[in-house]
Amino acid sequence: MNRFTYARPGDLPGALQAVAEPAAKFIAGGTNLIDLMKYNVERPDRLVDIRRLPGLDRIEDLDGGLRVGALVSNSALATDPRVEQHFPLLASAILHGASTQLRNAASTGGNLLQRTRCYYFYDPATPCNKREPGTGCPAKEGLSRIHAILGASESCIATHPSDMCVALAALAATVQVSGPGGERVIPFADFHRLPGDTPWIDTNLARDEIITSITLPAEAAAFAPHHTYLKLRDRHSYAFALVSVAAGLRMDGDRIAEARIALGGVAHKPWRDVSAEALLQDQAPGPEAFGRVADHVLANAHGYPGNAFKIGLARRAIVRALAQAAAGTPQRPSDKHFQ
Ligand code: SF4
Repeated sequence: MNRFTYARPGDLPGALQAVAEPAAKFIAGGTNLIDLMKYNVERPDRLVDIRRLPGLDRIEDLDGGLRVGALVSNSALATDPRVEQHFPLLASAILHGASTQLRNAASTGGNLLQRTRCYYFYDPATPCNKREPGTGCPAKEGLSRIHAILGASESCIATHPSDMCVALAALAATVQVSGPGGERVIPFADFHRLPGDTPWIDTNLARDEIITSITLPAEAAAFAPHHTYLKLRDRHSYAFALVSVAAGLRMDGDRIAEARIALGGVAHKPWRDVSAEALLQDQAPGPEAFGRVADHVLANAHGYPGNAFKIGLARRAIVRALAQAAAGTPQRPSDKHFQ
């Protein structure tokens, strides 16, 4: 770990000023950044601790939806009664991630900004285009079990590791950010990037901007009665997804009025496919319709020696998740025996 200075500003302008130096970084829960610093993957000259910034630790009602402050812990978000009742897909996704201790420490904003868990990215003794541009991507021919099958590039096949973000993508959340140029709102679909030929840039958040809140729109509550978050992984708990599916259906009698589908563990960003969702509009739920959707989502999937199995796994996961959502399968954490 390199030497760094530490600042703990008391307000937002002070935080933006403190992070203006090129090698400064914000820190909140630190559940990912500290690991990266210990491995010498991240080497900030200055850490700007934002945990004392006022007003960012609240969940507020907003036009029938919710505004979630960036400093709200993952645990507090998952167990808020309004989230459990109106946005249970989000609560379920969060509780599928990490461990209780990590969820207590991790912040909502930080969850969006966590970096890939690619094995090579964490090992400075190996090449990695994301950590050191131009050095190559050994994952393509090497260990790629948790890597991408959608939207990857020649430069990088890493995945975004979050569960929470998969649900936020499906629910069409928005991200409020603040920076030297003022405030702006980023639709969730535009927040994370695909690797392209700049895999070291994970998001469209500028380095000197800060996430202040995430907004859950009121209309996303319509998916509460018929939703599921299905996560397939190598261990029952505390493991990143091989494939996960966030699914929500708004039913009109025995027909699907609107569908939401997003995948985790398969791409550099949460993978929402609106054209696949449209295939379910005004359809009767069932394995044939769900299979067509899965085939559409995966039409351009590409596997590597270590992860080609994920294409079939993802197809089965999409069909199963949609079937669970259509059936209104109970999704309370107590039903799933989380630890
Ligand atoms: Fe690096 Fe991306 Fe390749 Fe992993 S997949 S080794 S993060 S370039």
